[in-house]
Amino acid sequence: MEPVIQLLADLVRIPSMNPMGRACSGKEYAEESIALFVAEYLRRRGITAEVQEVKPHRLNVVAHVDAGAERTVLLEAHLDTVHADAMAVPPFDANIVNGRLQGRGACDTKGSLAVFMDALCSLVAEGTKLRYNVLLAAVADEEYQFTGAQTAVARGMRADFGICGEPTRLHIIRAHKGVTRWRLRTSGRAAHSAYPERGKNAIYTMGHVLTALEQHARVLTLHPPHPLLGTPTMSVGVIEGGHAVNIVPENCWIEIDRRTLPGERREDIFGDVRAALKDIGDWSMDAPHLEAAGMEVPAGGEDVNRLRTAIESSVGSAIVESAQYATDAGMYCAAGIPCIVFGPGDIADAHTDAESIDIKEVLAAREIIRRFLT
Ligand SMILES: [Zn+2]
Repeated sequence: MEPVIQLLADLVRIPSMNPMGRACSGKEYAEESIALFVAEYLRRRGITAEVQEVKPHRLNVVAHVDAGAERTVLLEAHLDTVHADAMAVPPFDANIVNGRLQGRGACDTKGSLAVFMDALCSLVAEGTKLRYNVLLAAVADEEYQFTGAQTAVARGMRADFGICGEPTRLHIIRAHKGVTRWRLRTSGRAAHSAYPERGKNAIYTMGHVLTALEQHARVLTLHPPHPLLGTPTMSVGVIEGGHAVNIVPENCWIEIDRRTLPGERREDIFGDVRAALKDIGDWSMDAPHLEAAGMEVPAGGEDVNRLRTAIESSVGSAIVESAQYATDAGMYCAAGIPCIVFGPGDIADAHTDAESIDIKEVLAAREIIRRFLT
């Protein structure tokens, strides 16, 4: 077995599910075990690797190879996966069937992580001169709140260019939307439902809020579209309010999902919502519980071109496009590290009950990253 595939199998065999807000605990629901494995793997091969604590048992690994180069490139992949409930394939066995390695995280995104680790370690072992200094970051919590990438940036991680490893089928994603999610609450006054005039109905108030937000969401789609990403969107996805049918409800809340274009800021997003609701009282907004920036990297930059050439020379043609999902790349772009998204595997296989990755694509990605770095 090729060392990069052996490494991928080892990574899949270490569960690293993100609790994603559920009350799950145990070492399989955190990144600690896999982070320590990654750090040890790199250190054994002579690469300096620092472990950062994001939260208890939730760790990042940041490794560094100084090639004496002018520019530094960030290779980044997340360590966490989504849950492995009710999977149709064994989630942590790393079985290989029909040329595909199966398991939770195989595609999203341990394939990319194995590629970055093995490409870098093999070049260092061969003593090949690198074109860039390399930062290799394996981070926690991409699947839920992006706190791993936030922590890495807050601790001062800097690079001239970044590749965020996600399943893109070896395409270069140079733009994607961001997402901001938060709760909006209405408040009223409880009363016996036989005397509704004594209370104030928070659900009725929310009804007015929802009508105004639906209109605001429609207006957003009338903005001039971004050439790659279209317009921003907004959707209300959850509502809860009241305690019993015979009590006038004093509380109601909704959860809002706002897809953002690169450069949109929270102040502006909230300002627009406040303006849309200016004629309605008794509501308030929580701070976002999830905030991931959109990103856009120019098509013609030196580093993007070098990656494009590495792809062309390995697999024939290079596709540069945009995506609808959000990744850690938005966080790095916002911190001044132009960061594209690239990796083996298909997003259509990510998070599925039969997650798997094409081994040939993993081997091609390894070759592409090796060529890009040299
Ligand atoms: Zn991912």
